[in-house]
Amino acid sequence: MKRLAVIGYPIHHSISPAMHQAALDLYGIPVVYERREVVPDKLPAFIDSLRDGEWMGINVTVPHKEAVIPLLDGLSPDAEAIGAVNTVVASDGRLVGYNTDADGFLRALRERGEFDPAGRDVALLGAGGAARAVLWALCRAGARKVTIFNRHVERAERLRMAAAVWGISTQLDVARIDQFSVSAKLSRGGLLVNATSVGLAPTETPVAAESIPEGILVVDLIYNPRPTRLLREAGERGARTLDGLPMLVHQGAAAFERWMGRAAPVDVMFAAAERALQH
Ligand code: NDP
Repeated sequence: MKRLAVIGYPIHHSISPAMHQAALDLYGIPVVYERREVVPDKLPAFIDSLRDGEWMGINVTVPHKEAVIPLLDGLSPDAEAIGAVNTVVASDGRLVGYNTDADGFLRALRERGEFDPAGRDVALLGAGGAARAVLWALCRAGARKVTIFNRHVERAERLRMAAAVWGISTQLDVARIDQFSVSAKLSRGGLLVNATSVGLAPTETPVAAESIPEGILVVDLIYNPRPTRLLREAGERGARTLDGLPMLVHQGAAAFERWMGRAAPVDVMFAAAERALQH
């Protein structure tokens, strides 16, 4: 039996096995998808073991998304630009890294959020790994302007500098996160994306409710709790909202397509992910 897995440290919370196994079983593909805890100093040996012919690939999550890069034989242009890998395809002893977070974000935004970023202004909260994938996606999709807000503004500045080599036309600004600076950058028809980890605790929110104008779309990458405080308050103020589950499912679907060379059953994966979250 061929194998797939999601690796991370810790990894017990991951709902990827439920989502992918549902897709594999639906199509009758004889592959088992596991959850593997890999401690950081065992990462090189584990990655090398993927060349043994048994493995089709892996998903990679925190804290290995960057550390895995020098251990691979090649990178997709998305992974190269973002500087992080969340999917590895193993084939004929060769390991190639992809980043499907950006694609997953865009697919979720367009299909579930019914939002096309081309020509739009965006307030992006966060400057970590997830923010970088979202920024790449928004720039590639032709956003007019993205303001990167972060608690440590120098990290946002580093992200802007990194994006300067992407050869994109999107205007990039940085600012310290605070409710006034955020609301000043948003107008009707705009997009607010939370790519910080603020909101994982149900009482936390990255921006005050009063700073959210009506008529915008608010996307929170967090998918547990559902909804986050940010999305609840945004909805109460007349904004449209999208939580992080569609992005998670679509990045998984894009990974499935890389491994299997066929379209993923997105609805089945979505239902399996929702069920796994409830347990
Ligand atoms: P990182 O650790 O790389 O970045 C964390 C970000 O959150 C930084 O911008 C950090 O700011 C900010 N932050 C953390 N704590 C605070 C705080 N108390 N106040 C203000 N800002 C804070 O994490 P990731 O980028 O990997 O992940 C971010 C979130 O996105 C997570 O919640 C993760 O679950 C989610 N995610 C969802 C995905 C999906 O498919 N739906 C995919 C990937 C991630 P600073 O730099 O100032 O420390």
